[in-house]
Formats: sequence, C-alpha cells, structure tokens
Amino acid sequence: MHVELIHFISVLSATIGVLLFTLMFGAAIVSLKEREFRATGRIALLGVLMSLPYLVVGFIPFPNHEIAAIFLLITAALAVAIYLVPVGQKQITEDDTPKIRVDERDIMFARAHLLPGSERFEEYYRRKPDKKALDDKFRSRPGLLAKGSTYFDPALFSAAEASFEAVGSFQKIIDQEPATERVHLDPERITKFIKQWGRKLGAISVGVTELRDYHLYSHIGRNEPYGQPVDLDHKFALALTVEMDKHMLDHAPYGPTVMESAQQYLASGAIAVQIAAFIRNLGYPARAHIDGNYRVVCPLVARDAGLGEIGRMGLLMTPDLGPRVRLAVVTTDLPLAADQRTRDYSVLDFCARCKKCAVVCPSQAISFDDRTENDGVKRWQINSEACFTYWNSTGTDCGRCVRVCPYSHPDNLLHNVVRFGVRNSSLFRALAVPMDDYLYGRNPPPLGMPAWMNVAADED
Ligand code: SF4
Ligand code: SF4
Repeated sequence: MHVELIHFISVLSATIGVLLFTLMFGAAIVSLKEREFRATGRIALLGVLMSLPYLVVGFIPFPNHEIAAIFLLITAALAVAIYLVPVGQKQITEDDTPKIRVDERDIMFARAHLLPGSERFEEYYRRKPDKKALDDKFRSRPGLLAKGSTYFDPALFSAAEASFEAVGSFQKIIDQEPATERVHLDPERITKFIKQWGRKLGAISVGVTELRDYHLYSHIGRNEPYGQPVDLDHKFALALTVEMDKHMLDHAPYGPTVMESAQQYLASGAIAVQIAAFIRNLGYPARAHIDGNYRVVCPLVARDAGLGEIGRMGLLMTPDLGPRVRLAVVTTDLPLAADQRTRDYSVLDFCARCKKCAVVCPSQAISFDDRTENDGVKRWQINSEACFTYWNSTGTDCGRCVRVCPYSHPDNLLHNVVRFGVRNSSLFRALAVPMDDYLYGRNPPPLGMPAWMNVAADED
C-alpha cells in the first residue's frame, strides 16, 4: 500500500483513539458527578478498551498494521452510521383518541377516600362489585404515609405531609371569578408570555392544547360534589411539567421519593394557581388542576399539548426528563395558540424493547407485553390496584419505575447525545437498551438513606 496512505490511516486511527478516550473520560466524569458510580467505572473501562486498539494501531507500527487500521476505521464508520443515519422512523398513524371518558371515582385515590360503611362506599361497590376484593386488599395495609408501613419514617413522612398540606391550602384559589374588565390580547403573544413566565416560575416545559371532551373526567371522584358529571366548557388547556430531583428518586421506594413527589406536587400546583389567577386578572375564566383537585386527566392533556408521549408505565414521557416530572394543568377561555402534538414513535419502540420498569416493579403492576386494546385504544395499562396496594404497604409512592427508566437520566450533554440517537435510529435504540442495563444495572438497588435524613435521637 502507498506509504502516504498508510501514514494517513495511522494518523486517523490515532486521532479516533485520542478522541474516543477523551469523550469517554468526559462521560465518566459526568457520571461521577451524577453519583452513578457503577456507570463511572464501566464507562472508564469501556473508554480504555475502545480507544486502546486505535491508539496501538495509530502509534505503534507492527507488520501489516494497516489491515488492522482499516478494520478499525470501518468499525468506527459503522458506529457513526448507526448513530446518525435515521433508520426505523415510523409515523404513528393509529387513532389513539380515548373513546370514553375516565370516571374519576374509579381511580385509586378516589376509592381510597371511600369510608367503609358510608352510603358512598356502599353505592360505589354496588355499581362496581368486581373492585371490592381488590380494594379490601389495599385497605388491609397500613396506608400511605401511615405509621406501621414498611418505610415509615416520622421525619420524612412529616415532611411529605407538610408539602401536601401546603398544596391543600391552594384549593380555595384554584377557581374563582375573573375580573369584570376583560383585556384584549394577541393569542400568540399571551401564550408566549405565559410559557416564558411559567418557566421562570420553575416549569421545565409548558404546552397548550384545545380542551377536548376526552381530557375531562366523566364524574367527580376526589372532592365535592362527588359523583356529579364534570361540566367544564373551557376552550383551552395549558399543561406544565416540573422536574423531580433525580437524587431523591434514586432512593425509591424509600421515604425520599414521597418527599420529592409531594414537593413537586406543591411546586407544579403553585405555578398552576398563579397562572390561573393571572388569567382571571385579565378577565377570563381559568381553573388550576392540581394535586387532589383535578377535572382533567393531566397526562392526556400534556400529551396533546406536545409535551411528550405516554409510555409503558402509563406516564407522560417527556423528551428531556422522561417520566421524572410532575404535571399540573390550567384550563381557560383565554384565547391561546395551541401547540402541535408530537407523536414520537421512538418512545413506543424503546418501551417495547426496554421493559426495565416492569422488571423492577415490586408489585408486578407493569406489563411485559405489547400494547393491548383498552377501551378502544391500543396502549399499555398498568395494574393500578397492585401498585396502590404496594404503596399502602410501604407508606411511600414507590417510584422505582420512574427511578430506573433510561429516559429519567439528567438533561445534560451526555444523556442528550444518547437521546438524539434513540430518537433517530431503531438500530441505536436496539443497542441503547442493553447499554443502559450494562452501565446502570437492569435492576439497580435503591440508594441508602442520606445521613442528613437520619434525625432519630441516639440511644443512651
Ligand atoms: S423503563 Fe423502559 S419500558 Fe419502562 S417506561 Fe422507561 S423506557 Fe419505557
Ligand atoms: S410505582 Fe412502584 S409499584 Fe407502582 S408501578 Fe411503579 S414500580 Fe410498580
């Protein structure tokens, strides 16, 4: 082979080796900062193993080393192609519009509020006798944030209760009369204003959709007037997400996870009630939908407002933080500019391959199967009774599924590089699933409790 060509191949190999080593070293540092110690070690090891052949071929001449160099260059080109060439990008054409409205009386939180012996209790199980045995099971457990639950901790549970109490104080301002004088506004500009302001208040993403019939619960189930049909004729719904702290969730299913849930219900609720009040001050009706007081199914609204896709665990999967978010919604008659829904096939394809949430779920509530037809729509459906019974045993809201989901990694350059590949190519997705398992574990154990959370007095 021509000497200059051999020299060029060697230099290219050496460059790729140095680049690979540098990139993997950077990735290891990021993982260390994320306190992902297993991933740090494995990325560092991979960095050495992957860059070493290129460095040897690039820097150490040996007989016929150009043949090894060509092989390595082809491997590198293939890897880049798998990442960059869009493969398996399908348009979702199926109709996933829910055919019936969800009755809020059927959701677990509503059923948990039914007092045994009360007229409401008797009426519910007369209508839904099949649910009685299932619900007796969770009622036989200590309960959410209750003494006697497996992970009961007076400090952590009191902290979570405090956040829930603070959300409760918002209830009286979720829906009030608008100002009598109406300000006329440009829909595009006011939408932009609210989105920017929402982010300034702490939201990660904010989207708008026209309010559709199937967004609404059919009947009220968690507050008064219980059992009444939901009658809300607002024209628009604005959905927002806030981030749940990754490190707090790393302790799931222990107490920090419910502390974090409660705190983010509060954070999302605070933003929603402010936006609703702001809109009413402009003279338009607006209602905030926050923890404990919803008239809409938040994940459906958020999905249609372009904030993400619904994945295997039935939660909204946002592009940057996956399911590691909490949601709130504001419905209003203020004319707004609606966003396009983004139908992301890559999420469905990734979930079809991954199944990590199903592996780790302690109550086997998440299906390993493909999406099935539920109420006329093909989707994954979790066993909410099994999940809720587990919550009532442990006292926390678990969160193991959210904690291990590969989409839940932090929103930074390292994970966003992977996210691009996942969105772009089904070949990359096929590799990303085992790679995430290798780096972070297929069923990673929960982190132990941080020292600052241990407030028990020392025994004498
Ligand atoms: S853990 Fe995997 S299967 Fe489950 S929601 Fe996340 S990506 Fe989908
Ligand atoms: S919260 Fe826990 S019990 Fe419920 S579905 Fe997720 S992993 Fe399973």
